[in-house]
Amino acid sequence: MLLSQSYTDRRLMNANIAARFRQVFESNLDKVCLLRPGLADWTYRDLLFAMGQYANALNSLGVEPGDRVMVQVEKTPEAIALYLGCLQIGGVYVPVNTAYTLDEVAYFVSDADPKVLVSSTDVNLGPSNMILDSDGSGSLAVLAKSQSTNCVVASLKGEELAAILYTSGTTGRSKGAMLSHDNLSSNAETLVDYWSWQDNDILIHALPIYHVHGLFVASHCVFLTGTTMLFFPKFEAGAIIQHIKQATVLMGVPTFYTRLLEYSEFDEQLTDHMRLFISGSAPLTEQTFLNFEEKTGHRILERYGMSETGMITSNPYDGDRLAGTVGYALPNVQVRITGDKGEVLKPELVGGIEVRGPNVFSGYWRMPEKTAQEFRSDGFFVTGDMGVMSSDGRVSIVGREKDLVISGGLNVYPKEVEILIDALEGVKESAVIGVPHPDFGEAVVVVIVGNSLIKLSELDAYLKDRLARFKQPKAIFHLNELPRNAMGKVQKNRLRELYASTFKAES
Ligand code: AMP
Repeated sequence: MLLSQSYTDRRLMNANIAARFRQVFESNLDKVCLLRPGLADWTYRDLLFAMGQYANALNSLGVEPGDRVMVQVEKTPEAIALYLGCLQIGGVYVPVNTAYTLDEVAYFVSDADPKVLVSSTDVNLGPSNMILDSDGSGSLAVLAKSQSTNCVVASLKGEELAAILYTSGTTGRSKGAMLSHDNLSSNAETLVDYWSWQDNDILIHALPIYHVHGLFVASHCVFLTGTTMLFFPKFEAGAIIQHIKQATVLMGVPTFYTRLLEYSEFDEQLTDHMRLFISGSAPLTEQTFLNFEEKTGHRILERYGMSETGMITSNPYDGDRLAGTVGYALPNVQVRITGDKGEVLKPELVGGIEVRGPNVFSGYWRMPEKTAQEFRSDGFFVTGDMGVMSSDGRVSIVGREKDLVISGGLNVYPKEVEILIDALEGVKESAVIGVPHPDFGEAVVVVIVGNSLIKLSELDAYLKDRLARFKQPKAIFHLNELPRNAMGKVQKNRLRELYASTFKAES
């Protein structure tokens, strides 16, 4: 049976996502929720009980509705129970990337002002500091185990805060995106329906759980439907290949797919039982999409979203999944493309992507001015991404606004240059950036992975009839790999720093 048949019934339930999860867990007590290769599985009963214990533990530490609980821990079932327990009592969950240093965490603590800080080691940063280790032990686990498994679910309205996600912010201060219970439940509902979630789905969950993709998109589809996830502490292509026969859905960032494709055994036969491969959080190249289809027969479904908004667009489940596009606005979500002055552009014109809907956050934590700057008066949020929409509403992203190169006063969208260079023999991938130039303000530069022999003169000849002169790179650099963050996003700010003085000698 398609779970979407009960979609309307579930919609009528509480928008408080904690209460929603509890109802689902109570109806699926004996079903496995976390399937853990080589380790003990967790049923929904196990998770329900642990969720209650963590909720009570937080309660005993003084956490009340609206209080922030900051968490920087490894991915364990206990960490999931902690997240769910926090939601139950109306705490505001604030996950922090495990790669962040003590100084960075100190900033988040001063900004979010949490009642409790849960981390893997004692960091002594002010608020009550509890420990949850990479094996699920530590002072918080001990406290939780001493608690009753029943907890009182806070009675919360849909608009109350459920989580604050700090944006990866490559420049300036990282901002805390405030997400409500309504934001989370509306988006999860939509995705379960749009991606046709099935009763017997088993999701490969190999994403981190401090980010919107792993914590909300992946986990919520499972929790809302009482289905199962194959729970991996982190992504390892070999482990995925070993266990993929147990699964039906994989959600990943593009690097998951490029890594899997490096294995000869990752082929049609290995994946013929799979229902769906989903990609997001960073651009999936056309080449990866096509290689994947050629090798497995599956067309990866690419979707687009961000911390502030949850998911915004998706390629269709039944219709055409097109390489290089992120599909259509999700049901109830409105997307428009605007020009420099905020005017709505006609189809096929490149502009800023704006979004409005029940999924969109209410603002940045304690930053009213920044919030006001990024919302239009009619409630649309300015995403900072640039894109184009076809006349039938299909969206393609051309890059972040801050990655736009302005050379001699003319706009160059990195993606249009990268697509052409990626198609060259031996090129694995490329990143186009703008660096300071004495004449042009900025000059287009390309960083290439693979094909380390290609020269600028050859590139010039190849691009001569394909791209306007001002869009053609004025320098080439070669790297073994592009710098990426944990979500697979290319860190163009680092490349810009690395090559900032390329044209300095000429000035
Ligand atoms: P985050 O808040 O870390 O999830 O980052 C959100 C940003 O990731 C978006 O604003 C986009 O720039 C980028 N992003 C997410 N999904 C895609 C996608 N499918 N293609 C291209 N960029 C994406």
